Order: sequence, then structure tokens, then C-alpha cells
Amino acid sequence: MTRIYHDEDADLAALAGSTLAVLGYGNQGRSQALNLRDSGIPVVIGNIRDAAFACAEADGFEVLPVAEACARAAGVLVLVPDEVMPEVWREEIAPELDAGGLAVFASGYNVAFGLIEPAPDLDVALVAPRMIGAGVRASYLSGAGFPSFVGVHQDATGRARERMLAVARAIGSTRAGCIEMSMHDEASLDLFTEQGFGPAFGRVMMTAVELLVEAGYPPEAVLLELYLSGELAYSFEKMRELGMARQMDLHSHTSQYGSATRGARFLDLASPLRERMGAVLAEIRSGAFAEEWSRNREHAARIFERVREARERLPIARWEEAARKAFRIGDASEE
Ligand code: NDP
Repeated sequence: MTRIYHDEDADLAALAGSTLAVLGYGNQGRSQALNLRDSGIPVVIGNIRDAAFACAEADGFEVLPVAEACARAAGVLVLVPDEVMPEVWREEIAPELDAGGLAVFASGYNVAFGLIEPAPDLDVALVAPRMIGAGVRASYLSGAGFPSFVGVHQDATGRARERMLAVARAIGSTRAGCIEMSMHDEASLDLFTEQGFGPAFGRVMMTAVELLVEAGYPPEAVLLELYLSGELAYSFEKMRELGMARQMDLHSHTSQYGSATRGARFLDLASPLRERMGAVLAEIRSGAFAEEWSRNREHAARIFERVREARERLPIARWEEAARKAFRIGDASEE
């Protein structure tokens, strides 16, 4: 049965007397460190000497090189970028962790796909916020909290679950709720959203943009209608609050009639979509994607550069810029 944990399932006492090292003071690291400190947990920061290091010092933390921070702590939150994590783990973190130490990951990727193999005498847990870093801090301060995926990957001490839940509570996540799952499931869901859902959704948007512009509508109007006005974002917010079907009640009767009667015309797209999405999911679950990404990582900068160049050549890049300027959306309004 799926388990969902809330504040009443988690006791900060499980971390009593423990200093935690937050490794990486970036999007997640800064917010989680501030939340832990505000929850009364002693925190040291481990980071390379750079702007993030200075930022952590300015926030009043003791900041050390990663290995030194690990040596000082009973548990570590590993919040460096996923792509450097295996090397940082191997060279700076693992050698400093004592038997019974706790390692908490905010993404299951490296452990799930065998790129990090923690020693068997460690407690290893997943506390993966479903929230960007800034939101982790903002929702802690507002008291709303934010959901996370949590799981015990390895329980060497018999106390891994209670310690994991205490971390989840201290960063403000059990307030909203934490759902239990394996690192492999968390990583697979995350990758599927990025590789299956996202691109399929993007293709639907692009098809609509291309069709409408070819039909003679001004590109700025098309983009405004489809997503730039913020109406789509508002509908997504309502899907979250009310549900995908029930939020339909907020739309006009013409809108409800039109989408109900025309919706069936798109049903046959489900089958090819499922097939493609299924293939993406199978590659993720088998580890084939992780293996491919590891092989190509050294070429990543070149790949991303090419993608950026190609992206900027698309007509939609020009249309978006014109529309954003015209309607004073985002940075363009400040020019
Ligand atoms: P960021 O890139 O924002 O921050 C990483 C931090 O690690 C930075 O302070 C960075 O310094 C520092 N760093 C980089 N290289 C090293 C190194 N070799 N040794 C020590 N420190 C280093 O990462 P995120 O916060 O986005 O991600 C951290 C983890 O959280 C990942 O596992 C990610 O998957 C997970 N996560 C992220 C979410 C998000 O919203 N971003 C959501 C949920 C989970 P500098 O910036 O100076 O390079």
C-alpha cells in the first residue's frame, strides 16, 4: 500500500545531537539548509570555493570544503549537481562517512542507476522535493510546506526511516506530505516527465502554433492565445486545485460544449502516443538512458550549444520575442 507521511509521522528527535552537512549550496542546498537551521538542526555547508561558498557564509553558515564538512557531520544531504555527484561522492564524501552515517539524496538518479554505490554500513535515503529550490524556502516560510518523494534505500542502523522522516520534516516537507517510493521509481518518474510527457506536450503546442500561423493569424496573437497571456498557466493551477475535469466548470459554456464535442476526435492519437511514451519509459527503466547519458556526458556542452543554436533559428523564437516586447511580458518589459 502507498504510504504518505505527514508531520505527525516524523519526529525531529531522531536527529537530536546530529550535525548535518549540506553539500552544495545551490537551488536546493541553500533553501534546505536555511529550513534545517530554522527547524533547530545544526548545519555545516560543504561547497567548492566559489560564489555559492560566499553566499553560504553571508547567510551565516560555517562553510567548509566538502570532505571537511562530511567529516564534521552525522549525516549529509548530497545536493551538488547530479552530473558531478558520482565523482564528488567517490573522492570527497564516501571516504569521510563513518559506519551508521546518513546520506540523503534529493534525486534517486545516481544511486538507482548504479553510478553511486554507497557502502553497506550507511543509512541511505531519498528526500526528493517536488518543488524548485526557491519554492522549498518560500513554502517553508509560508507554512504551507511542499510534497516530496521519500524512501529508504539502505537501512544499516535500523533508524534510517525515522532519520529520513526527521529530515523531511525539518526541511518543511511532511507539512504537505511525503509519498514513499524507491529511488528507481522516483528517478524513472522524473525522467519520464522530462522525456515522455514534456516533449509530447511541446509537440502539441508547436503543432497548434504552426497551424494557426499558417492559417494567417498574427504570430503574436497565436502565442498570446495559447500560452503567453498566462491563461494556460492559470488553468494548470486550477487543475491542481480542482482536478483536470472539474476545472472545466470554470470555462464558458461555449468552451465546455466545444471541447466536450470535439474531444473525441483526438482519441485515436492516444494509441501512437502510448506506444512512443511506453518506449521512452522502457529505456528509462532498463537503465539504457542512464547508460547513454553517461557515455555522452563529455560531449554535453557541444550538444547543448547545437540545440541552443537550432532553437534560436526557429521562427517561434522571433515571434515570442516580439510578443513579449509588445505585451510587456517578463524581462522584455524592463527594456
Ligand atoms: P545546483 O546546480 O543549483 O547547485 C549545486 C551546488 O553544488 C552549487 O552550490 C554548486 O556550486 C555546487 N557544486 C558544483 N560542483 C561542485 C563540486 N564539485 N563540489 C562541491 N560543490 C559543487 O543544483 P540543484 O540544487 O538544482 O540540485 C541539487 C540536487 O537536488 C540534485 O540532485 C537535483 O536533482 C535535486 N533536485 C533539484 C531540484 C531543483 O528544483 N533544482 C528539485 C528536486 C531535486 P556552483 O553553483 O558555484 O557551481
